[in-house]
Parts: sequence; structure tokens; C-alpha cells
Amino acid sequence: TPRPARILEVDHLFHSFGDFTALNDVSLSANSSEFVTLLGPSGSGKSTLLRILAGLELPTKVDALILDGHDVSDVPANRRNVATVFQHYGLFPHLNVLENVEYGLRVRKVPKAERRERALRMLDQVQLSDFAHRSIAKLSGGQKQRVALARSLVLEPVILLLDEPLGALDEKLRIDMQVELLQLQRSLGMTFIYVTHSQEEALTMSDRILLMNQGRIVQEGTPEEMFDRPASRFAASFMGMEN
Ligand code: ADP
Ligand code: MG
Repeated sequence: TPRPARILEVDHLFHSFGDFTALNDVSLSANSSEFVTLLGPSGSGKSTLLRILAGLELPTKVDALILDGHDVSDVPANRRNVATVFQHYGLFPHLNVLENVEYGLRVRKVPKAERRERALRMLDQVQLSDFAHRSIAKLSGGQKQRVALARSLVLEPVILLLDEPLGALDEKLRIDMQVELLQLQRSLGMTFIYVTHSQEEALTMSDRILLMNQGRIVQEGTPEEMFDRPASRFAASFMGMEN
């Protein structure tokens, strides 16, 4: 069966930590093959929202959280068909590159030959074929981030969630990786939900930007719309920011 065009829908999501409201009536959607960016300053609720989408945190209240046609509001992280990439890679240092990429398939009991073939194919996609047997400790930051990407993508999630994945890289590498990430997303035709506080990253890569402030989505639009027609003083200052 073909994937529905609308792969994610979140209706009226609230999340509190004690008395503090971290997410305040957030609704959003994402279409198949779309690159959606959650952009906003530190503390605006981006990571909390991403963790809720991943199932790593259960929301205080939500009317619906539909993923690939199913309501997953009560489905735990390991049974949601999403994968997550974080800033600090989270690789297993005692496993080599190939073993890291195969790990999730092993957990899912994919047979060894298929596991290896899929992992090698994905390493090829991120241009790490020559590094399959290298130890993680010998990789550069950019290479580690590509292993982390391959490890998530090999699971064939319906959505890839990325939380500031380029945050630990230096500027030159960050710009190269923006191009690489976008090419990868386009060639796989996968839906990406990408968290960043960098308006430059958001403007470069996104099909659509959701601008967050203080736990709310305050504006949404294409990069052009967001840059040319900011809807508030906050949006104008944030979208025009150098960082
Ligand atoms: P962002 O990723 O946009 O920087 P976060 O989602 O990490 O923002 O945090 C949003 C707000 O929620 C912040 O004020 C943060 O301090 C608070 N917060 C996040 N996680 C917790 C937690 N586990 N307990 C208490 N407060 C939290
Ligand atoms: Mg964050």
C-alpha cells in the first residue's frame, strides 16, 4: 500500500514539567518526503517536541498523534517506526563502523546476510564504504555523524528525527554536511524532521520551517516566506539573525 501523503499529524499537544509548560498547544503535520525544520531559540521546546515524536517522552496531553496512518500516542519508542539522530552521535565505541550500522538490524533479528547487505548499502549512501572495518575512535566528527545517520537510516524509518545533528561540527564541515544531508534526504525520499537553532541551516535545507518560541509554533512557511514576510517582531529578528 502506498504511504499516505500526510505521514505525521499532531493535534493540540501540551507538555509540562511540573508547573512549567514546555509545549503549549502545538499542532503540526509533515508530508511524505518533506524536509521540515523546527527552528527556534534555546529553550523554545524543540527537543521536547522531538522526543515526544520519538516516543522517548509521553506528552501531558494530546488530541492525536498520527504516524503513517496510525495513532501512536500510546506506542512506546521501540515500537514506533521512527529513528533519531542526536548531536552527540551515540555510537558504540567498542564496535566498528559496520557493526554499529548493523546493530539495530541485529536487535530486530534480521538474518545475518541481509543485515550485512543492507548495512553496506547504507554505508555506500553516506560515502563510508572504505571505512566499514574501522574503529569508531579513528573517525573524524563528520564521519561519526555519517555513521550515526547510516545506523538510523538502515532501519528504514518512515520519519527520521534529527536534533541539532551538526551542532558539534566546525563551520566548514557543517556547511558541507548541510549539502550532504539534503542530498541524502532527497535521494531516499524520506521525511526528515530537523531541529536547529540556526536560521541559516533552516533556510538552506527546509521545504518548510516551523518557527518556535516559548513552547508554541509562532509561524510556519517556506524559507522564502519566513525570510521575506516574518509575522512578528520576534520572527523578523530571529530570521534575520547572524549565527
Ligand atoms: P530547546 O531544544 O528548544 O532548546 P527544550 O525542549 O530542550 O528546548 O526545553 C524547553 C524548556 O523545557 C526549557 O525551558 C527547558 O529548561 C525545559 N525542560 C526540558 N526538559 C526538561 C526536564 N526534563 N525537566 C524540566 N524542564 C525541562
Ligand atoms: Mg534542544
